[in-house]
Amino acid sequence: MNGHHVDSYLCIGCPLGCRLEVEEVHTDGVGDDIEVRGFTCKKGKEYGRQEHTDPRRVVTTTVALGGGAWDRLPVKTSAAVPKDLVRDVCRELRRVRVDAPVAMGTVVLKDVLGTGIDVVATRDL
Ligand code: SF4
Repeated sequence: MNGHHVDSYLCIGCPLGCRLEVEEVHTDGVGDDIEVRGFTCKKGKEYGRQEHTDPRRVVTTTVALGGGAWDRLPVKTSAAVPKDLVRDVCRELRRVRVDAPVAMGTVVLKDVLGTGIDVVATRDL
């Protein structure tokens, strides 16, 4: 019972901002499982589990843009990437340069770092 490590996370699912506690509990014979506490709704329970086992973030940044009135194009990953890869995704995007005009939703980098996730323009420029 005692000595179990408990991690805390702030649920970002809605403005209520529930403080989640995630504990790895041992269930007889079937290995480890995770117990999430502090959520007010199901979304928080799922967020706590996800954040503990496979934290992910949508990367929002800009890439170089040529031939237009602006020299940077806002982009984001089309889905959340593993948190550990965020810096590497940004590094990859420093090498990307696209030419105007670009339509919102255009893929500027496909399958970034083999994640199966594309980086897309978030604005028409
Ligand atoms: S657990 Fe539910 S109610 Fe609480 S912050 Fe997350 S989404 Fe909102």
